[in-house]
Amino acid sequence: MPLTNATQRCPACLSASRSEVLTVRENMFGISEDFDYSVCSDCGTLALITVPEDMAPYYPSNYYSVDLDPERALGAPVVRQFAQLVISSALWGRGVFSGVASAVIPRRQLRTLVSVLGSIRRAGLANGRETRVLDVGCGSGILVFALGLAGVQDVVGVDPFMSSGRELSTGGCLIKQDLSEVEGSYDLIMFHHSLEHVPDPEASLKEALKRLTPGGRVLIRMPTPSSHAFATYGAAWVSLDAPRHLVVLSRPGLETLCQRLGAGVVSVADDSTSFQFWGSEQYLLGIPLMDRRSVMVKPSDAPFSKAQLKAWEEQAAVLNKEGRGDQAAWVVAPTPTPTPTFP
Ligand SMILES: [Zn+2]
Repeated sequence: MPLTNATQRCPACLSASRSEVLTVRENMFGISEDFDYSVCSDCGTLALITVPEDMAPYYPSNYYSVDLDPERALGAPVVRQFAQLVISSALWGRGVFSGVASAVIPRRQLRTLVSVLGSIRRAGLANGRETRVLDVGCGSGILVFALGLAGVQDVVGVDPFMSSGRELSTGGCLIKQDLSEVEGSYDLIMFHHSLEHVPDPEASLKEALKRLTPGGRVLIRMPTPSSHAFATYGAAWVSLDAPRHLVVLSRPGLETLCQRLGAGVVSVADDSTSFQFWGSEQYLLGIPLMDRRSVMVKPSDAPFSKAQLKAWEEQAAVLNKEGRGDQAAWVVAPTPTPTPTFP
């Protein structure tokens, strides 16, 4: 029996009222299959109504979080030195070098890495290079590798879907396991576009909060329907990513969920990009993300001009400032329990 959310409450705010059911087509690999999502009329959170019994067909070997070996991508001698400078600049320095490098080098992956490191810096590496960091749903482990390269000594990445665990040459460690199996405690626990892939985000966030050291924080980067892109594109919004995204939390939905767990949102910084536009426009044109005409695969064969892509990047920056981007980084911390006062 496939799991079904049809009669269940909103996984974020627990409301039983649904405004509509949104039918969304798989559009990464061009698998012609439709999936229904419920839209919570109270908080706007989206939830896949029937989760396929076997998700493996939707995560083929060229799925982008697992096919990039960090030792190969960043480990070659010259690249490694350059990456170390960029990453250290973004994490510990004033970000001048990383800012210049990502402005000059036209690589989307580099810009993304610098932006992600900025969110980690904002979340706080409380104990500097001795901060204990856990990356939940680490995929290929690129971020675990990057943090190790910048000198963070105790970084662990877990992902139940990786082929096998291993130690990285930068000192980080990848373990094939679920968050619920993780031992020990951490100063910073991160979900980088992984919380929307779990069937029960409340349970995952609870497991994370349980493993925080005193003063520790959780960093959640994820897409959100509380955005201009979802309002504009609806079912064609690229970050719905059916059926891989099981629950896509709205901004108020995440806040309500945190409160239920005795935690609160400390800060939010939007980090959306032009992807929200070209990805969704490609969906409307019937071009899957991994298609050879996709910006993701071969920008020169994509149906958008360089000027158009640049304009979308600028529009994304404006939306981020306004808090209307389609993805953001939330820093979450346990709410301090008030000291009881006696009359
Ligand atoms: Zn809701």
